[in-house]
Amino acid sequence: MEQYDVEALRREYPILERKVWEKPMIYLDNAATSQTPRCVVEAVDHMYFTQKANVHRGVHCMSQEATASMEAARECARRFVGADSTDEIIFTRGTTEALNLVASSYCRLLQPGDEIVLTVMEHHSNIVPWQMAAERLGLVIKAAPIHSDGSLDLEAFKALFSPRTRLASVCHVSNVLGTVNPIREIADFVHSHGAVMCVDGAQAVSHLKVDVKALGADFYAFSSHKMYGPAGVGILYGRRELLQAMPPYQGGGEMIGHVSFSGTTWAELPYKFEAGTPDFVDASAFAKAVNYMEGIGVDRIAAHEEELLRYATEQMLTIDGLTIYGTAPGKSAVISFLLRGAHHYDTGVLLDRMGIEVRTGHHCAQPLMEVLGIEGTVRASFALYNTRQEVDAFIAALRRIAAMLC
Ligand SMILES: *Cc1c(COP(=O)(O)O)cnc(C)c1O
Repeated sequence: MEQYDVEALRREYPILERKVWEKPMIYLDNAATSQTPRCVVEAVDHMYFTQKANVHRGVHCMSQEATASMEAARECARRFVGADSTDEIIFTRGTTEALNLVASSYCRLLQPGDEIVLTVMEHHSNIVPWQMAAERLGLVIKAAPIHSDGSLDLEAFKALFSPRTRLASVCHVSNVLGTVNPIREIADFVHSHGAVMCVDGAQAVSHLKVDVKALGADFYAFSSHKMYGPAGVGILYGRRELLQAMPPYQGGGEMIGHVSFSGTTWAELPYKFEAGTPDFVDASAFAKAVNYMEGIGVDRIAAHEEELLRYATEQMLTIDGLTIYGTAPGKSAVISFLLRGAHHYDTGVLLDRMGIEVRTGHHCAQPLMEVLGIEGTVRASFALYNTRQEVDAFIAALRRIAAMLC
């Protein structure tokens, strides 16, 4: 196999040449959003310059071309996650909207007193939609704890199940801890209780090969912008029987069979869940991002990131007073940390002044921060274009900051 040529890959990302504060920019905030290669941006341009027409409605040539692009993207997403049918692939605005769709629509099939199991490591977008549904429908929410290394406490998770448990929703990969949850094992347990398994895959798709059937996921949600694709598009995979039983999420054009004031019928899957004009431009470009990742090889990307993770972790642990949050075996390329005596915000501001872009704060996971007993962390996260030299610059910067603040 040819060498992993990170310099060649970097040339496809003009943004990596920019400076911040007159320093070469080092982008380590990939868990918030990854950068976008030229081929994906060109796919967006191509659609605007040559093909922009509304989908699914037109008899004219351009509308048919735009529709074909979007439906090809749906097929690409189906293949990417290993779904049986494109009927099971719904375009959304992102992971957040995908999870809101499930929480608001699936939960309407439940009864007051029915229970939903989450974990304390969830992102707010895998907590709040369930809380809103629970409030509306009288459901009960439980959250499973974690071990000190940031892995899920599976025994405690299982102990939360009762005869009223109807659904569990768990992240595949934690955006704070990097923990990779054993979704197959969790799903088998969830199914043995007759409940449904929903997975927040936002942090997984760019690092792991995902196969929804092998994982046993009934729902799987993710965002294009975290996997080298354009912003504004996400995917919800849903098992066909579940989607068929669920009421529509939003009403409007595209999602109807026939509208009349004496009663309206719904469109077939997947259109029942796609009210209004979808983001057909970015959906089409998302397919380009999938092809791009697959062209490099998800396994090779993962191996490159793992090497950066291993190297960075090893170096960081030599810095006095630095604590890493999340050390579960097999974790993903995300490092949350704090320097003793330094506020996460100050560390982040100083890193930025040295050209290094990291995230600071609660990372949309306040319940997890409460469990960890901290307000927030600094988080560095890697992507396919990061280099060992960038890690070296990051470590040197951390040493300077530790000397200044601690
Ligand atoms: C980013 C993220 C989300 C939300 O994704 P959006 O693209 O903002 O909708 C949900 N869960 C996890 C684990 C995330 O990292």
